[in-house]
Amino acid sequence: MSDLLLATANRSKQREFGRLLAGIPGRLVFPQDVGIELDVPEPYPTYAGNAAAKAEAYCRASGLLSLADDSGIEVEALDWGPGVVTARYGGDDVDDRVALLLEAVGDSPRRAARMVCVLALATPSPRPGASPRIEAFHGEMHGELARERRGEGGFGYDPVFLLPNGCTTAELPDGQKDAISHRGRAVAAVMPRLQALMAVPA
Ligand code: IMP
Repeated sequence: MSDLLLATANRSKQREFGRLLAGIPGRLVFPQDVGIELDVPEPYPTYAGNAAAKAEAYCRASGLLSLADDSGIEVEALDWGPGVVTARYGGDDVDDRVALLLEAVGDSPRRAARMVCVLALATPSPRPGASPRIEAFHGEMHGELARERRGEGGFGYDPVFLLPNGCTTAELPDGQKDAISHRGRAVAAVMPRLQALMAVPA
């Protein structure tokens, strides 16, 4: 099994995963490379449930080993929300979710925050039609919600995710974000499994 399909159409995530997975013993391919376009619903109350649904859908459609992520930001002042609904926080009509989050937290001193990533790895079954095997891997990054945006790097909530060193994750060079990020840590957790699965001839 020498190809790994990254089960996301999000180009910012594709860029990060491209760097993080550079060491896998095979090719990393994206949905656009294999002509697959899926809009998988994310109705589950857990990151793991949503990530598994995406990984399984892409694995079934492609027949490839498939890796999906689900991620979110959690803030103490919001009782550790928005969490699993971060991507849809505030509903479909909101065009600036970062502003909405800053407004919701307001002047609260309860600004502890974490970014969470769960990766689901779907391995195709050798039996036609049978469910893929799903495994989950977790990563977190801890910090605070900033009071205003800073930095041009990263994406999403990076300009307001403040690290203990006083920088936001949008102010870090890519390699430094990768070394400490929720996604970087989840990739470090899945890497031994990828090495084992991909190095073995299918
Ligand atoms: P999903 O994983 O596609 O459901 O999206 C999760 C949400 O969290 C989106 O709104 C992303 O913009 C945000 N998010 C995920 N990872 C990061 C990150 O590394 N930095 C900033 N925001 C992120």
